[in-house]
Amino acid sequence: MKICVLGAGVVGVTTAYMLTRAGHDVVLIEQASGPATGTSKANGAQLSYSYVEPFASPATARKLTNYLLGTDPGIKLGLSLKPSYLAWGVRFLRNCRRAEYEKNFQNREALAELSRSSLDEIEAEIPNGAIPRTGKGKLVIAEDEKTLNGLIASARFSPDGLNELQVLNKLECAELAPTLGRTDREIFGGVYCETDEALDTQIYCSTLLSANVRNRKPVVKYDERFETIELTDGRVSAVLTHENSYPCDAVIACLGGETNKALNGFIKPLPIYPVQGYSITLPATAEAPVCSITDLKHKFVIANLGDAVRIAGFMDTNLSPQRSKARAEELLETARRLWPGIADYNAEPNFWIGQRPMTPEGLPVIKESRTPGLYINAGHGSMGYTFAAGSAARVVELVGRA
Ligand SMILES: Cc1cc2nc3c(=O)[nH]c(=O)nc-3n(C[C@H](O)[C@H](O)[C@H](O)COP(=O)(O)OP(=O)(O)OC[C@H]3O[C@@H](n4cnc5c(N)ncnc54)[C@H](O)[C@@H]3O)c2cc1C
Repeated sequence: MKICVLGAGVVGVTTAYMLTRAGHDVVLIEQASGPATGTSKANGAQLSYSYVEPFASPATARKLTNYLLGTDPGIKLGLSLKPSYLAWGVRFLRNCRRAEYEKNFQNREALAELSRSSLDEIEAEIPNGAIPRTGKGKLVIAEDEKTLNGLIASARFSPDGLNELQVLNKLECAELAPTLGRTDREIFGGVYCETDEALDTQIYCSTLLSANVRNRKPVVKYDERFETIELTDGRVSAVLTHENSYPCDAVIACLGGETNKALNGFIKPLPIYPVQGYSITLPATAEAPVCSITDLKHKFVIANLGDAVRIAGFMDTNLSPQRSKARAEELLETARRLWPGIADYNAEPNFWIGQRPMTPEGLPVIKESRTPGLYINAGHGSMGYTFAAGSAARVVELVGRA
């Protein structure tokens, strides 16, 4: 089949790769001049298969007042009367109920596992074998016993032994992240997963797009803005960009938070809402932890990107541009205070603000739309990088092999 994939974020690039691998002729269309420039750009860089708890949970519902009042340092849910936000909020609250939470959690676990195995398959076929990881392993730290117990309950101790999870005490945490031993911060312990990984998304996307997939490659069209879809007898027959027309049998929309706007009239609006996060990228020092760190209380992650350290996190909605800028600076100051020495904090911080395309369930929408031949792969929220390979595998299942 001739297939157009729209959007070259981590989701679109992986989808284009997997469809090419399945024998289809793929054109990948992106409005920017390269891959991973949207939400995928400077994210936390974690392939985090072991911690996939959905945000909508009974625990989140209990803390909601703090989030709404802005008293939690990591999450600030600004109010808005936008109908899309109110509808999303109601559905989010429904998903905080235990039964929905358990179901969403299991679905996320299944997608994480499929993502891990799909990325392993991709990697085995890439010549010279590798998508070069920079961060190896992931440590999630807890400041008190109750948090550690919650963490143990939500981590995936898989019976097949794929997740090498270990519960660590304070001293063992400080061996992995020596900075912890030198601050007066109270740490109770943590959970370490040896098999979680980190890698810059730009490197990931470039590696996939430059690799021959069974002697073929997707054709990539940068600097082309998708405008509309041409239908013949009610079915997708071409994609029109601002400059070209691409005849095709199917379209896969991997447009993240832009999906509803770009496909207005072709799809039923999806419950995807932008949840803002921030990152800073600083030169690494000799003390930069090799493994990734999740600082649970303050809701950010630290990733080793080789020469650089990426600190990414916080979850906010409906903040003004001015407040958003202040939040990015808050992230920098919090990291400087709690994690001194791991990066050169006097260097240019390379502030970045990104919008997680969140669904209330915490699961991406992967399905054929009401327009025959138009498929959606969007709404990956906080886990788009981790879930990209499994989501692409599901798209291949839906579309079929060539
Ligand atoms: C602070 C932060 C930290 C995060 N950390 C992690 C992490 O550690 N691990 C993880 O798994 N996930 C993480 N995420 C989530 C992850 O970044 C997202 O889920 C993921 O990037 C979504 O990818 P995407 O390809 O769907 O969207 P995008 O990356 O936004 O890609 C969509 C693409 O579509 C293009 N596009 C839009 N409209 C058009 C058009 N009309 N024509 C052509 N092209 C168009 C855009 O230019 C863009 O390139 C984080 C997110 C944030 C904000």
